[in-house]
Amino acid sequence: MFPQLVLKPKKERAFVHRHPWIFSGAVASVPELENGEIVEVISHEGKLLGYGFYSPYSQIICRVFEFDPKDKIIDGVYWKGKISRALEIRKNLIDFSRTDCYRLLHAEGDFFPGIIADAYGKSLVIQLLIKGTERLVEELKLAFMELGFEHIYLKTKQSSQILENINEELTWLTDPVDLPVVVQENGVRLKVDFEKGQKTGFFLDQRVNRQLAGKLSEGKNVLNTFCYTGGFSVYALQGGAKVVHSVDSSKDAIAMCEENVALNGFDSRHESFVADCFDFLKAVEPYYYDLIILDPPAFAKSARKVENATRGYKELNMLGIKRVKPGGLILTFSCSQNIDKLLFQKIVFGAAADVGRNVRILQHLGQPLDHPVNIFHPEGEYLKGLLLYVE
Ligand code: SAH
Repeated sequence: MFPQLVLKPKKERAFVHRHPWIFSGAVASVPELENGEIVEVISHEGKLLGYGFYSPYSQIICRVFEFDPKDKIIDGVYWKGKISRALEIRKNLIDFSRTDCYRLLHAEGDFFPGIIADAYGKSLVIQLLIKGTERLVEELKLAFMELGFEHIYLKTKQSSQILENINEELTWLTDPVDLPVVVQENGVRLKVDFEKGQKTGFFLDQRVNRQLAGKLSEGKNVLNTFCYTGGFSVYALQGGAKVVHSVDSSKDAIAMCEENVALNGFDSRHESFVADCFDFLKAVEPYYYDLIILDPPAFAKSARKVENATRGYKELNMLGIKRVKPGGLILTFSCSQNIDKLLFQKIVFGAAADVGRNVRILQHLGQPLDHPVNIFHPEGEYLKGLLLYVE
């Protein structure tokens, strides 16, 4: 038995659509509760509808993790079951002999709001995004260990402010592992540092798109902007690129990029630059590159930033479209959740129109299968991209 959160009349209708977020306006009454407590969600008529995490300081007052509450007991076995199902999906669809880094839990996408968990071999990096999952940390740790993970690192930096009182010391939940770890992605070897790196250490969401970049690279001059630790660059080199140039404003990222290039046995065809990508693109020789990769950080981190972000994406895509060789390709991405597929395509359309070159969309790109989108929570679809052919 958990405390009860009672919805206003008719508000249970949203439950039919299984959207995991309950907004504060939908709630008739809640007892005095602590942040992160598990609650029973009750209709106005008194029916048990589901279970969720209570977040009193957020507009999203409850995140529902269970819509079929009948006969469910919410305990350690329950959480382990959720994680096991997510693992099973990955095991069946990813070739673990060539890829040992993947997203194990994608929050709402795996019907587990408030947690992201990325696997790097036997290590797991978790981000707890709400107090509700933070309170479960011991049970989760046990479940992950039972499923074979030996080292668990809790990454707090990118988490929401709800974690304001989390103990910064609490990072390794198990014995630590020496960093960076070396993982494999489609047979490519990569060094990942959870502590110093961005997000959980690596952008696992670009795995399939990196593979595509590799296939497109043979004999090409490739420019990888916003290269971070060089994922796209290594694939391009492996794919037979003539030249690969990697650009990032972070010195540490470029250092790791060079290490990753060397780790895979390449270097003579590769050069890297610590620079602002906009400045770099403005200065490059026009028509030198056959393939340009534009994978910037999220320019629109909130809905309020969409307008500025739109300008940023447009400028970036204009630079790429202007500079790429006639008959060249561009892989362009946005990971801003607030800019949807259609808006992104409109932005790139605007860029192409302003530059005045013919541009074909060859392919629409997105996030891979270990970043699933809960069909009831389309907000979980954030990564979008286009493969462009520029005349
Ligand atoms: N494409 C990468 C992920 C990109 S993350 C991958 O596949 O792994 C975004 C990167 O952009 C970060 O490494 C950050 O340091 C860099 N960055 C952000 N703004 C930049 C700018 N104006 N110029 C150059 N690099 C920038």
